[in-house]
Amino acid sequence: MTVDTAGAAPLRFRRIGIVGVGLIGGSFALALKTVKAVDTVVGFGRSRANLDVARRMGVIDEIANGWDDIDGCDLILLAVPVGQLPEVMPVIAPRIARDALVTDAGSTKRDVVAYARAAFGKALPRFVPAHPIAGAEKSGAAAARPNLFAGRPVVLTPIEETDAFAFKRVRATWQLTGAKTMRMDVAMHDMALAATSHLPHVLAFAMMNEIAQRPEAEAMLALTGGGFRDFTRIAASNPEMWRDICLSNRDTLCAEIDAFSARLARFRQWIATGDGPALEREFEAARVAREALTIALDASARPRD
Ligand code: NAD
Repeated sequence: MTVDTAGAAPLRFRRIGIVGVGLIGGSFALALKTVKAVDTVVGFGRSRANLDVARRMGVIDEIANGWDDIDGCDLILLAVPVGQLPEVMPVIAPRIARDALVTDAGSTKRDVVAYARAAFGKALPRFVPAHPIAGAEKSGAAAARPNLFAGRPVVLTPIEETDAFAFKRVRATWQLTGAKTMRMDVAMHDMALAATSHLPHVLAFAMMNEIAQRPEAEAMLALTGGGFRDFTRIAASNPEMWRDICLSNRDTLCAEIDAFSARLARFRQWIATGDGPALEREFEAARVAREALTIALDASARPRD
């Protein structure tokens, strides 16, 4: 399938460069291969073993010989942990071809945009920042799958320098992966994700360690049921990636941790003083909000005609 974007050439790439062939980069490559939107995918990475796995699985067709291979790519996806971008962007910047498009998958956007502004020069208008709200607690090329983005939101955060044509092409490319694209301001993205993703991950890591680091951990963990497992599922996520996300979004995330701590302190107070009505009121408000979220998520997952 090729997609015609308003007045543009059909969306098909000769050579896509995936920088960081992990869960996200690999899934992007597989999704575009599935719809035949690319002739050749070339993988750039720091782990030869992971790139070998990617090639064996057909996620990529070629392993780059070095950074110079960037100049043959007409689309480049940056899918390394965001803390790697200050090193990676200046290396690839002088090698980006004149008409090539660049996008990324970083979970934070203010820092990514700042690194791009510092590094990309003439290529900056053709860089379209993106964040797929899709993922898993697995990492590496072996975890990649073609339908990871199907039906999932991808937030695009173009900046004032972003070229309108590049934006449309990159948006259409993410749509080819099956994703639903949405546009958002950079700061709004980082604030929303700090509350809905970064804080929950910090809580899951903390909760897991709170139990696992006790002397009685083994006996306690043997008693865990669905609640503990659901709550801590994301504590199995990639530590390097989450270190980088937390540090990249530190001011906003610290504000969210403070707000959450204050709420937790109120719960503690009600429990300590035996204030049943206050507790029940809060639990009821949360239950209603969670049920509404379930209905909204189910509706958005339903196929449309
Ligand atoms: P991953 O660990 O599966 O893959 C990252 C890959 O980058 C690895 O193969 C690693 O070898 C490679 N890499 C690391 N440093 C490199 C460097 N300097 N040069 C070249 N390659 C390098 O991670 P992932 O889950 O695919 O995440 C990739 C990006 O996508 C991150 O920025 C993350 O914030 C973002 N993201 C992740 C998720 C998720 O749930 N996993 C969701 C949305 C966005």
